[in-house]
Formats: sequence, structure tokens, C-alpha cells
Amino acid sequence: MPSVYIKTYGCQMNERDSEAVAAQLVAKGYTLAPSETVADVILLNTCSVRDLAEQKALRKMENLAADVRRDRPNVVLGFMGCMAQSRGQELIDRLPDVDLVLGTQKFHRAADCLGDILAGHAEKIVDVAEEQGSEATIREHLLYGNGAKNGGGDSDGRRPPLPVTAFVSIMQGCNQYCTFCIVPYTRGEERSRSIPDIVAECRQLVAQGVKEITLLGQIVTSYGKREKRDEWHVTHDANVPSPVTCHPSLSPFVQLLDAVHEIEGLERIRFTSPHPKGYGDDLIEAYTRLPKLVESAHLPVQSGSNRVLKLMHRGYTRERYLGIVRKLRAARPDIGVSTDFIVGFPGETEDDFEETLSLAREVEFDQAYIFKYSPRRDTPAAALPDQVPQKVREERNQRLLEVINEIAQRKYRALVGRQVQILVEGPSKKNPARMTGRTRCNRIVVFDGSERHRGQLMDVKITRAGSFTLYGDPAIINL
Ligand code: SF4
Repeated sequence: MPSVYIKTYGCQMNERDSEAVAAQLVAKGYTLAPSETVADVILLNTCSVRDLAEQKALRKMENLAADVRRDRPNVVLGFMGCMAQSRGQELIDRLPDVDLVLGTQKFHRAADCLGDILAGHAEKIVDVAEEQGSEATIREHLLYGNGAKNGGGDSDGRRPPLPVTAFVSIMQGCNQYCTFCIVPYTRGEERSRSIPDIVAECRQLVAQGVKEITLLGQIVTSYGKREKRDEWHVTHDANVPSPVTCHPSLSPFVQLLDAVHEIEGLERIRFTSPHPKGYGDDLIEAYTRLPKLVESAHLPVQSGSNRVLKLMHRGYTRERYLGIVRKLRAARPDIGVSTDFIVGFPGETEDDFEETLSLAREVEFDQAYIFKYSPRRDTPAAALPDQVPQKVREERNQRLLEVINEIAQRKYRALVGRQVQILVEGPSKKNPARMTGRTRCNRIVVFDGSERHRGQLMDVKITRAGSFTLYGDPAIINL
């Protein structure tokens, strides 16, 4: 059977989609190639959020067509994901070496499409149509029984260790239409999977050794808001009680959290990304009564200026955002709060930017991802007047980064001497002789451990704080 190599650009949602496609192909007998140089099928899972990400994927495909195809003319080349969705046939017109273009609602068709191309039944396939129910098709994982046995092992055929953490896709799409964002056009309308389906997938993961699950969606606080309840809660798994009967007054997302929390053997629950607009009191209250919901909240703010938030069509004010953070910290004083910022949005003045700086100082984020605004084709913000010059965007990026880093470093250093619980995930990427784990508030801790610690919840004492990494002393680990 052919081997496949998937290169992923962009966010965790894309990583999860690639994993599901890989698992689907492995279940059909494909092996996973360790690199593109030896693969029979090369797929690029693309991102459209920034123009740079699109250009990178296009350049990569040009190089693959020139280098790999020259030596191995039968290699199949394909684009998947957001750029495939938004550009469709245009990609093949521009790069005639491309054989497959698969949109964001068609990941589950990857094996069929590749089968047709490899068997010579089709020369080129472009499939970017909408498909009802596609949100429920991102469900396969690369665990024992599918991925690992056929292609996930090392060159000696040994199986890799079971993963400790897993991502579970709960919904697709977004209806918020922030003016800078291309996602509603590439991922479509909000569509949510049913609670029983999601719980069944989580149960299976936990049965295979997963201890921590991150629930994923473009806007998880809108989960289930557009579905007809009676259809949506049809229970496919007789063992899963319908949470609606338990907590009918709660939002669908909190009902989902309650249902996942019930799973025996699951230790931790995370989710990303919520939206401040839909961040209700029931979600804040969930932090006080669901111990598996870890003390970590990624809450994208984008700007500290109400004027800019309005231009962005974010649907909340600075005051509302600060109110949510206050309530979260009252609910869980140790909660780690992270965010996303965009600097240099069209029309952002120096005063607006100062408000962003003051919000960053007021909240004291544990971590923040800063993006310099980059216009996206076909989004309303690209046509707004008063685009901010590149030099100013870069200067603001630097100033905000300094504030964020100074606060984050102070908070990291404050943890030295404290005992924290970590979930051990595996060897450190930088130094495989050491192990890493994650605290409940999402900080990475490196310590001298061994494979036998993988998957364990451990208390470690923090001895040193590096740049966005903590170090624990093995001598004082409680075994
Ligand atoms: S909430 Fe806004 S930024 Fe997030 S995916 Fe939807 S449109 Fe994009």
C-alpha cells in the first residue's frame, strides 16, 4: 500500500484534522511516511488566517512539484483545508501538478479520493462542496488499533507510546464574522456534534489511556446553539445519559462539559477557543464545581479599545472582558489566563493602542499571542480606511511584547519554590533525556524523570523558571 506524508500549517484545529485524515488512511492500509522525500502521497493541510501561511503552502507545493515530482512522477500531490476550501479549482489552474484539492467539509473523503486517483479512475479531484453532517466526521485518532500499528512506529516496527492527551473536535465553523477573519468563509456556518457522539469519542480515548482532553472548536461558547435540541440530543450510546434532562437551564457547552466530566478515568478537561461574547456565568460557575476542568482559560481579547473592538465586530466591550476575567479569578484564584491580540488593525490610533497596553497591564496575562494585523482578501477589514503602516504595526507589536513578557516572566518566577501538579506527557522536545509535563494552568515543567512517569499526575516542586518553561527538582518529586 502507498505511504502518505501530511504537512500541517496553522492552528490546533488543523492539527486535529490532519490526525483524523492520517488515521483514516492508515485504517485503509496506508503507512505513514517519515518524510515527504519517501512518500507516495503528499498532502498539505493549509491555513488561510494569514496571507503568509497561504504563501508558504503555495511555495512548498511549487518546490514539491519541481523536486519530488521530477524524480518520482507518480507521487500524488494534494491540498486540503482552509486554502483548499477558499481557492478550490484555482489551485490546480495555478499549479497543474496538484492532483487533489479537498475542502474543510471533505476530510472524511480523503481515502476515497486518493483511491480513485491512485487507481487511475480520476486524474484530478476538486471537492470543496458543503456537506451536511461533516462536523461529525473528524473522529478517528492515531492510537493503537489504527495509526500506530501501521505507520506510527519507529523503523524497528516498535509501537510508539500511547498519547496522554488528545484533542476532540466538537464543532465546525463560526457565525461571528469578525471583520478581520476569513474563518467563517473557509469553515462555514457553525455546526455542532451531538453530546452523546462527543462523549462516546472521549470515552474511547480514555479507555485507550488518554488522561487529558481538549475540546476544540472555532468558537466553543457557541457550541450547540444552532441545533434543534431534540434531534441534537439523540443518544447513540445507551450508556450516556442525556445531559439536557440533568441541567436544562445550562448552555449547551456547559452541558457538554458536565457530560465529559462524568467520564471515569479522565483526569483533566481543557477547551479552546471560547469567545468573550458567549462566556456566560454558567461557564464561570462550571469552574467552581467541575474539578477536572483545569485552571486555565484562553480568552481572545484582540484589542483593549472599545472603538477598535467595534470595528472588529467582536460583540463585547473592554469592560465586559475585564468583568469575565475578574469573575474567573474569583472562581479559581490560581487560574492561568492567556489571550490573543491583534495590533495595527485598520484605524487603530496611538490612543487605542495605549488602551490595549493598559488592558494587558491590568489583566496581567500569563501568556499572550500577538499578531500584527495582516489584510485578508474578501474580509471587510481589508477594505477599511486608515490602514496602519507596516512600520507602526511592528513597533506596536514590539511594545506590547515587552509588556507581556515582563509580566509573564514575573509570574513564572513567582512559582519558584511552589509545589504544583503536572500531568507527565513524555520526553522533552529539546532534551529527550528529560521528561515534560503540564501544570493545570498550562505551564510546561521539565524534570529528570523516565518513561515510567508518562501519564502520571505528579506533584513537583518548582526550582527554576526559564523563558516560558519551569523546571522541577526530581529529588523532591512525591512518588
Ligand atoms: S470568533 Fe471571530 S476570530 Fe474567531 S473564528 Fe469566528 S470570526 Fe474568526
